[in-house]
This record gives sequence, C-alpha cells and structure tokens, in this order.
Amino acid sequence: MKPEIAKLLREIPPMDKLLARPWVNQYEEKLGRSSVKSVFADVVGEYRSDILKGMKKCLDISELEKEVIKRLDRYKNPSLRKAINATGVVVHTNLGRSCLAEEAIQAVSEIARGYSNLEYNLEKGERGQRLEHVEWLLCQLTGADGAVVVNNNAGAVLLCLSALAQGGQAIISRGELVEIGGSFRIPEIMAQSGVEMIEVGTTNKTKTRDYREAITERTKMLLKVHPSNFRIVGFQSTPSREELAELAKEKNLVFMEDLGSGVLLDLSISGLKGEPTVADCVRSQVDVVTFSGDKLLGGPQAGCIVGRRPLIDKIKKHPLHRALRIDKMTLAALEATLRMYIEGRSYKIPTISMLTMDAETLKKKAFKLKRMLRRATGEFYEPQVVEIEDVVGGGAYPAEKLSGYALRVRCGKIKDSDLLERLRNCKPPIIATALEGFIFFHVRTILDGEEVTLVSCLKEVAHDLS
Ligand SMILES: *Cc1c(COP(=O)(O)O)cnc(C)c1O
Repeated sequence: MKPEIAKLLREIPPMDKLLARPWVNQYEEKLGRSSVKSVFADVVGEYRSDILKGMKKCLDISELEKEVIKRLDRYKNPSLRKAINATGVVVHTNLGRSCLAEEAIQAVSEIARGYSNLEYNLEKGERGQRLEHVEWLLCQLTGADGAVVVNNNAGAVLLCLSALAQGGQAIISRGELVEIGGSFRIPEIMAQSGVEMIEVGTTNKTKTRDYREAITERTKMLLKVHPSNFRIVGFQSTPSREELAELAKEKNLVFMEDLGSGVLLDLSISGLKGEPTVADCVRSQVDVVTFSGDKLLGGPQAGCIVGRRPLIDKIKKHPLHRALRIDKMTLAALEATLRMYIEGRSYKIPTISMLTMDAETLKKKAFKLKRMLRRATGEFYEPQVVEIEDVVGGGAYPAEKLSGYALRVRCGKIKDSDLLERLRNCKPPIIATALEGFIFFHVRTILDGEEVTLVSCLKEVAHDLS
C-alpha cells in the first residue's frame, strides 16, 4: 500500500468519534443508534474504497458528514407521502392512480381500526366468505352471475389463466400481445400461468377464421386483451365479441377478456367514447372479464373478475386465489366505491368527477388559481390561463383528447428544470409539467384545497429568488 493511501485511511475518525458528533443526537432520537451507525458505516466504507482506488487525494471529514446527514434526512421522514398532481393525467400510475371518495376513506379507517366481519357470517355465527361483501355489488353492476376480487388486475389475469387454461392452449390475436407499463407482458404472463400461447392473425388484422383454424384438441381458451395505451388506427379489424363468443361456445372453450381499465359507467355522454363498459362485455357473452379497481373505476388497487358462475367457482378454488387474496382495507374501500355506483352517486368519485369536469368549471378553477398567485406574487411568474390537453391515463381512451385548462407560469431567474425540482421539494411535493420555457399546472387534477399549498410554495420560491 502506498504511504499516502495508508495515511488517508488513518485519517478517517473511528466510529465512536463520529457518533459523538453533536448533530447525531437528533437523528438517534428518530432512527435509533444502530441505524445512524449503519449509515456512517456505509459512507465510511465508500470513502475507504475510494481511497484504496486512489480516487481521493485528501480527506474532507465535513463532506463525509454532509453525506451522512443527507442520507439520514432521507430516512428520517416518511417515504410514502402525499403529492399534488398538476400534470392533468387523471389515472396517473406513478402518482397512485385513484384518489378515493370520502366514503371509501371512512370505510377503510373504520375497518382498519378494529375487528370486523371480514370472514364471519353474522347471521349464522360462523365462518363466512371474504368476497361476499362485494360479489353481489359487482354482479349487479355488470350483469355477471359471479365475481372474484384479488390484489390487482395483473394478479386477476394470472389467476384466471392458471385456473381456466393451465396445461392447454389459449388463442390470442397478434394485435393484442401488448406490454402494459411496469413489465406486465401478455406473453410472459401466459408462460407464467402454464398456458401455451397461440398467436393468430397479424398486427392490424385478425379474423374469426384465424381463431377457428388455430383451434386444436388442446385449446382451452380464446383470449382478448385490451391494447391499453396502444392503438392501431386505419386498416385494421378484429372480430366482434359476439363472433368470438359464438365460436367459443361452439367449440366448448372459455372466452376471456382482460379489459384493463374497466369502465363501469358509460362515459360517452361526457364526450369520452370508445371504451366498452364491463357490462357491455358481459352482455356480449364474454365468459370471464378482468379489470382494475383503481383505474377508471376510481376505487382502491384491486383486480376484479366477473363472469359465469361455474368458471368463477373454479377460480375461487385455485390455490393462487389464496396467494393473491384481497386485503380487508382494500375490500372496505372497494365496497364503499361500488355502493356509490349502485346509489347513482358515482359522480362523487374523484376519478369520475375529474374525468367529467366541464370546460367552464376547469376554466374557473384556472382563473381562481391565477388570482391567488397574483395576490401572492404579483407578476413575478407572469401567470396566464391557457387551454391545454389533459390525459385520462391508465391505458384507457388513449386516442381521446380531454381538453383542459392550466395555469402557465415562467420565471427568468431560474431554469425550468430547477423550478420543477423546487416544486418537488415542497411539502407536499408538487408535480407539474414544463414545455418551451413555461411551467404548467393543469387544474383538472389539482384537488380542492391544494391551490393554497401550491401558491404558498411558489411564493416561497419567489421570495428566495428575489
Ligand atoms: C393496467 C392493465 C393491467 C394491469 O392491471 P393492474 O391493476 O395494474 O395490475 C392488465 N391488463 C390491462 C389491459 C391493463 O390495462
């Protein structure tokens, strides 16, 4: 070892010296001594290896301490935090998809706090069924005669394929072999379920005849998958659900559809066209339909499966059902959300109300935000209300444009990317979009009351920059 390296290594203070720093106390109180010690050990270890590699010419202890403090600060505060979504993407997977309705939040809080009849039949005083709390609701809302709910829709698809087609073949159109964000790929999930995938047709055109000709004695299922964020437009066609349902019936196969977003309500009156409702699929004789609880339904993360009773019974009995079972808090939120549909109050579900918000309301919201910002910071940000495009998200309605409004700001004293970073460092963090020197706050996804936080954060930034 070179003498200058040995000298640098000796300069690193011993652990007890480091732990005796006066600032350590406040972190110890929050995180415990052993956590603080392990963070020190990590950073010291990194320094040591840099020194050994000859990457450090001198040792700056205050820099080392700063790095430790930076990491401890990160661990000290809760990691999962509320954020403000000013992106205009309603079902934003990275920002937690659905905001629950007040009733759903109440239900979660009550069920989480104490015991419940989760799996207890109060009439008979004996063990009951976890799924009973939502099965009737889902059947009522979709016209199906059975329902199962699991942890998420990816799980629902895995479970259905495993329970209904394992060891056999499932036929799917080449136009539907999609990947949905976050590494959910249809071919991989089929392989995982032990189902042999038989691709038919072409990317843009698949005919009923293609499915018919691919059927063998090993075929168990015809599978239809919602293409999610992906659309083929122009010269394209696929058979109708009715045609595939008829073929499946004739050949005694299961016809399953992974619908993804799963709209319960026809949103076409609000200008959102092109997505079938779950009830449409059931009516078209699809045997089993899977969809998410936290996309367009506006409830908690869950995977809903509705369909024909004998198939649903088979799914319930599969061992994966137990592995993917839904948690009681989720169940509470889902039941409360579904009840809002039954009671005709779905417009109070945040996802639905954000998607169906009319232009006038959005415009008013944007002007109100502008007034608030003006009052706080004058013309510092040169705020302007502008028309802008919002996005449904969650893989639904990818071709539909949601016309929205945003408050557009700019500031010559700070780069866009730095302002976005400042906004992300607010409490709570604010996620906005930037384009060509402007920052945009899409008002559609900014919830009631969040405007105040947004403005006070911008005011603070303005103060720092002046
Ligand atoms: C989103 C989506 C999934 C996955 O659903 P999760 O609830 O995120 O697990 C599966 N299939 C389709 C078509 C989807 O759009």
